[in-house]
This record gives sequence, structure tokens and C-alpha cells, in this order.
Amino acid sequence: MKVGRIIKVSGPLVVAEGMEDANVYDVVEVSENKLIGEIIEMRGDKASIQVYEETTGIGPGDIVITTGSPLSIELGPGLIEQMFDGIQRPLQSLQDAAGDFLTKGVAVKSLNREKKWEFVPVVNVGDLVKPGDIIGTVQETPIVSHKIMVPVGIEGTLEKIESGNFTIEETVAVVKTEDGEKELTMLQKWPVRKGRPYSNKLDPTDPLITGQRVIDTFFPVTKGGAAAIPGPFGSGKTVVQHQLAKWADAEIVVYVGCGERGNEMTDVLMEFPEIIDPKTGESLMKRTVLIANTSNMPVAAREASIYTGITISEYFRDMGYSVAMMADSTSRWAEALREMSGRLEEMPGDEGYPAYLASRIADYYERAGKVECLGNDGRVGALTVIGAVSPPGGDISEPVSQATLRIVKVFWGLDYALSYRRHFPAINWLNSYSLYQTKVDKYFDENIDTNFSRDRIRAMALLQEESGLEEIVRLVGRDALSDADQLKLEVTKSIREDFLQQNAFHEVDTYCSLDKQYKMLSLILEFYDLAMEALEKGAYTSEIEVMPIRDKIARSKNIPETELDRFAEITKEMKEDFTKLVEKEGTVNA
Ligand code: ADP
Ligand code: MG
Repeated sequence: MKVGRIIKVSGPLVVAEGMEDANVYDVVEVSENKLIGEIIEMRGDKASIQVYEETTGIGPGDIVITTGSPLSIELGPGLIEQMFDGIQRPLQSLQDAAGDFLTKGVAVKSLNREKKWEFVPVVNVGDLVKPGDIIGTVQETPIVSHKIMVPVGIEGTLEKIESGNFTIEETVAVVKTEDGEKELTMLQKWPVRKGRPYSNKLDPTDPLITGQRVIDTFFPVTKGGAAAIPGPFGSGKTVVQHQLAKWADAEIVVYVGCGERGNEMTDVLMEFPEIIDPKTGESLMKRTVLIANTSNMPVAAREASIYTGITISEYFRDMGYSVAMMADSTSRWAEALREMSGRLEEMPGDEGYPAYLASRIADYYERAGKVECLGNDGRVGALTVIGAVSPPGGDISEPVSQATLRIVKVFWGLDYALSYRRHFPAINWLNSYSLYQTKVDKYFDENIDTNFSRDRIRAMALLQEESGLEEIVRLVGRDALSDADQLKLEVTKSIREDFLQQNAFHEVDTYCSLDKQYKMLSLILEFYDLAMEALEKGAYTSEIEVMPIRDKIARSKNIPETELDRFAEITKEMKEDFTKLVEKEGTVNA
């Protein structure tokens, strides 16, 4: 292999000459230290290389060797519960990430080579196998059965398959193909920039249930859908992403901390092992893979971290799982692209971002989806992608937000004003949207309550009316409103404060089942109906406003999931209170 020589170093960008044997996207080893880099541009024999490690100390004349293969990651048992950096080097802690542990360029293996996994075959000698067919399983954690699949490109008759304990590099099966015998191990590699193949893309119709009321009830995302959370600094992007990683009903969670503060990943690392998933009784880490590329790590690796994350996600999707991937924040990835593009002296587009920004963002979100997987069993997997976006100053007219909103179907717009008022999650209910709503309505009406979507539509209509009424109040004062409208404002306040606001840090409120969401919302709407009826029968708004039952409605968010019967009691009590109120009016007025 021919050796190139560095002619220029500019931060994470290195230019080398004598590279005519190399191709764009080849991984290269830079200098005697073997720093890992990737060719992002070729001009003649000159390669521009983005280097995923600190480039201090290297300079012109140092050698560059191409590996001849694209940036790839390892897929196999051992992924779950791990934390990796952007190019899939395992991190024991964020200390490692700072570089104390990994010396530069040391080629560490991504997955453990010594550990033995119990491989249980599910096919027999003589069977015909094709890419994607499951040949066996490994119980990777108490809740994740890792399916060992025939890699892409291998097809033939199974000659040998063994049960027992194997490392990921030991042969578990032999396939007789047209090009001779192929030994299969539990380890596969995949180039991160290429989406993994599937048979068919399907329409995502089932909701990804997150336990967050404003999301599930008003702006749902589907299993296989894509959502964006843009918001200014401090508006709650990270808390929303953490909440989804904790509570969304995905079977596998891949969380990418991309260019944000390191302590946020530390929070995840400290918290997740402690949290017990109520559905499985196991620690959340038993279904989670973490990728950390925090603000103190090399900028180029941010780019890779997004691709590493989505490739791992696709791999579990291919097993037939529902996977959720969070990326916090995609803006830092876009900024890394901008920085590299600037150093390459490419023609800048909008706000200095490269012209290909929008297509890169689209390519990324398009890897989300519900699919019929490769393989003969017709299994279905889903990959939901949720990206935080951090527009400077919170202004979403900037290029990253705009390119993202063109492709995703769910927009959770975080609002500075709401977070300032400590209305959390600060998702603005007036400008957020979900294009999956009608699909999900069907699911909710069939599975939760036939009135679910009706109530959701009523509540949203009230909230929209509220903004109009508030305008009037601002101009001429509350007294100018009719009694009915004043009451309406009381009810919308209740929808906002008692339903939409949800405290991520409260033991009970942090997660709210769909059943409870429905009960809470219908309780508020029932209050509204009874109040309007009472008003017509002569009760005063001022009396209704101070009814003690309102306290119980406000506190209903803290009713534990095991005590949802209490909603029926509160409803009963509320009806009785209204009956008494109206009877009293009856006697007064008679
Ligand atoms: P961002 O990532 O947008 O910069 P964070 O997610 O770090 O913002 O949120 C900032 C702060 O807002 C959090 O530290 C927390 O105090 C508060 N916060 C955000 N969301 C919630 C929530 N759902 N419940 C309670 N507090 C919240
Ligand atoms: Mg954040």
C-alpha cells in the first residue's frame, strides 16, 4: 500500500498528497500515532481528511495510510449497556472520553472479544439461508434477545451450526454458497454512512407511547416516525430527550449525546441504571446503547456519532425490534459539517453551512421508518428518530431548523416564554404539530377509549380559543368577557396547568399512561360541561371558580398508575358538587 504524506494540518482537517490509491470515505491512519480519519474529498492525488482525534503534534511530512475501507462499526452481542464515543470506541466513563484512558490512535476493539455468549440455533443443517434470516439467538440482557442474522451478501445451504458458548469471533455456522464455504460469526461490520437494507418500507401507524401528555395526546410520534425538538438554550430539549429515552415504549433505545455538555451524559449514566422500567422490571440500561460525543471531544467525531448511532439503531430494527434513537443536538452535528466545509474552502450556502446541509439532514431522517425486515419470517421492525435542534436565539428560520422541518413529520416547538414561566415541557401547543395524528387517532380510539380523539380535538379547540380570548383580555380587561368565556378561560388554564404541564422530576408525574392521560383530560372536560350547565341554571362563575373539586382535578396528575379508580370517585364527587350548587341556585332564585 502506498504511503501518503501530510502537506497541511488545519484543526481537524488534514490534507495529504500521494494518495492516488485512496477513495472518498476511506478510513485512513494519520501519522505514526495512527489517528483515525476519513477522507472527505479527493483532488488528484490530494486527500482532505477529517480526523476524529486531536491533531495537535502532527504536521507536514507525517505519513497517511489508507485502510481501503469506509468508516464501519461492529455489530453483534455486547452493544447493549455500552457507552461508545463517536467512532464506537468503548468508554468506561466520561473520564475516558476526556482522553485520560485512551491514548491517541490506539485501536481499541468496539465489542468485547473475550466474552462468551450462549448461542442458541434456530435453524438446521440443510436449510437454505439468505441475508437477514435469523440463524440463532443470544440472550444479551434479561430483556434483549439478540438475533444473529445472516449478513448481507451471503446465501446458501447451512452446512454446520452449533449451539454453545462462543465469542463474537468464533464460528457458529458454516454456509455453502456459490463462492464456496463461508464461516459465520456473531460479529458483523457495516459502513455507517450507508443505510442497512430491508425488504419494504411500511406506513408507520402505531404511536410510540412516551408517557408525556402533551406529546402522546396532542402531538404523537409513531413507531418508525421522525420528530424534531427545536428550542433555545434552557428550554428543555435535553429533558424531553431524556424523558423519551426513559419512558418511550421502544424495545431498544440508542441515545446520542452530540456536542452538548458532558455532564448531561454523566446524568444519563448515573440515572439510567437506577431507573427500573415498569414494563420489564429491569434497569433501563438493559435496553440502552449510549453514544457520547460531548463538547470537549473532537469536533469531527460529532459527525460520525450520528451515523454510528443510527447504524446501531438500524441493526436492532433489523432484528424486528422497535427502536428509538435520540440525538442531542443535531445542530452541533451541522456545525461540525460547517466547520469542515469552511476548512475545505467550499462555496458556503446559507449562514455558512455547506450547500449539501439539507440533503445530509434529509438522508439522516430518512433512515427512520417502519420496515418489513430482510429475512424469511416477515418480521417488522421500526426505527423512530427524535432530533433536538438548537437554533441560535431560538429562531427557527435558520437553516438547520428549516431543513429538519422539511423532512420530519412531528414538530415539538419549545418556547422560551413557556420555559421562563416554568411551564414544562415548554412545548408550544399552538405551533407544534404531528402529521401522524389521524393515523394515531384510530389507534387511541380503538385501544384506549372511543372518545379519545374527540376529547383531544375539543381540548385543542379550547386552547386555540383561549389565545383569542386572551387578546381581548389584554385589550379591554377580563370583565369585558361574558361569564361563559370567563369560565372557558378557567378551563383552559386547567388544561394548561393540570394537563399539559408535567414535572419530569416528580416520582409519579414523570410518566403518565395513555389511560391516565385520557382520564385526566376527560375529567377536565367533564368539569367544563358541568360548569357550563350550572352557569345556564343560574350559578355564578365566581362560585364555580372556587369549587374545592378543582384542587382535586389539579392534583390528579399525581395519582399513581395503580390507583386510577380514583378518577371515577373524583368524577362522582364533582357531579354531586355541581348538583348541590345548582340546587342551591334553584332555591335562591325561586
Ligand atoms: P436545553 O437542553 O434546551 O438547553 P434542558 O433540557 O437542559 O434545556 O432544560 C433546562 C432546565 O429546564 C432543566 O434543568 C429543568 O430545570 C427544566 N425543565 C425542563 N423540562 C422540564 C420538565 N419536563 N419538568 C421539570 N423541569 C424541566
Ligand atoms: Mg440541552
